[in-house]
Amino acid sequence: MFDVIVVGGGPVGACAGTLLARGTSRAAGLSVALLEPRPPTTAPVDTRGDLRVVALSRASERLLTRAGAWTQIPRERCHPYERMRIWHQSVSPDSDAVLVFDAADVGEPNLGYIAESRALQTALLAAFAEAGGHIETAPLSALAIGEEGVQVSTPHGTLPARLVVGADGAQSALRAAAGLTVELRAYGQTAIVANVSTAKLHESTAWQRFMHDGTLAFLPLADGTSSIVWSADDARAANLVSLSDADFAGELDRASDLALGETRLLSARLSFPLMGLAAQRYVAQRVALIGDAAHVVHPLAGQGVNLGLLDAAALAEQVQAAVAAREDPGALRVLRAYERWRKSEVAAMALSIDTFDRLLAHGAGPLARLAQRGLSWVNASQELRRFFIRRALGLSGELPQMAR
Ligand SMILES: Cc1cc2nc3c(=O)[nH]c(=O)nc-3n(C[C@H](O)[C@H](O)[C@H](O)COP(=O)(O)OP(=O)(O)OC[C@H]3O[C@@H](n4cnc5c(N)ncnc54)[C@H](O)[C@@H]3O)c2cc1C
Repeated sequence: MFDVIVVGGGPVGACAGTLLARGTSRAAGLSVALLEPRPPTTAPVDTRGDLRVVALSRASERLLTRAGAWTQIPRERCHPYERMRIWHQSVSPDSDAVLVFDAADVGEPNLGYIAESRALQTALLAAFAEAGGHIETAPLSALAIGEEGVQVSTPHGTLPARLVVGADGAQSALRAAAGLTVELRAYGQTAIVANVSTAKLHESTAWQRFMHDGTLAFLPLADGTSSIVWSADDARAANLVSLSDADFAGELDRASDLALGETRLLSARLSFPLMGLAAQRYVAQRVALIGDAAHVVHPLAGQGVNLGLLDAAALAEQVQAAVAAREDPGALRVLRAYERWRKSEVAAMALSIDTFDRLLAHGAGPLARLAQRGLSWVNASQELRRFFIRRALGLSGELPQMAR
């Protein structure tokens, strides 16, 4: 019998599995199995790498270090960013009203890293194997929850455990099998992701422009190019995807107001229909949900993986403490403590992201104008700027010990 089976070896599931298997100075490592039907294959060195990138916070960097995965992410696939420049379309990209967060303002070397998703997942799966975890290359096919344990079935057989963790993403099969329900929120938007070169240097800065019909971010990559994440209303996004490369670059130049000069498209365009999701319960007897299986937030603040990694650490801490105290790690009492902790943190973050989206990216009228002006008020106050920089670093809220 395993102590824990993690369903889903994306970044969040692989991190949870690794933290549980490694243990801490106070708690021994647990026996952990992980189901992942589609483990990433290593990218050939001559490709441009992965189009999907994520912004990792300082808290995530610390958790990945604790998991033994941080140094396994190739540096050319994980670039530090030192500044953020955020502005509304009503002002020009070089005006004083642009909100600037600079790591130097709080004595930090950077605000975080832009990492390729596949490199992150590969590093975490390697760390999981090194920690003694067992990987099954198979999907979940059935679940049976009993008094003493849980039986997790795949097309290859059945594995018993004391706790099963659902980290199988927004469409979580485990969540459905456990009868946990979700609230969905259609944003009516699609995110377009692509790699571009820009006439001006990105200066290791993340650039983000809020527009009446969406949000556009340029995330700096190690080779001097940028990854764009452009969230637009569905119809506009469909049109943008259908344009020729040159016409798309023209639209991009208009949408960026040439903040980084003229752009050239270097890759295919991937599109992701956006949907907010919140599981009503994160836990049931012998079941816990983490990452996108529990919550999906709008990508405009780049917080999805960061929230999920904090779930992974919070759950690992609760479960390890329970095992050390000779408690059943699958007991509802133990899991509820995890749920209370993370559900309130995630709800607060989701609310502020949705408010940003409503007021800055889509809003009109007096309240929206007030919010747009708010960007320059934040800029004018060093105290407020420091507050937001700490949030960007992921160092606010109730953090797991491992992220402090
Ligand atoms: C356009 C866009 C930009 C984003 N940018 C950022 C960003 O800058 N920063 C950030 O933090 N987040 C960002 N996100 C969010 C981030 O990508 C997700 O939050 C993150 O991938 C969630 O990780 P996860 O491991 O929970 O789920 P996933 O990455 O979805 O992984 C789930 C895993 O479960 C496996 N699986 C699926 N079904 C089964 C099954 N039946 N059995 C077993 N395994 C299964 C899958 O193969 C997969 O490996 C962005 C999202 C989008 C759409």
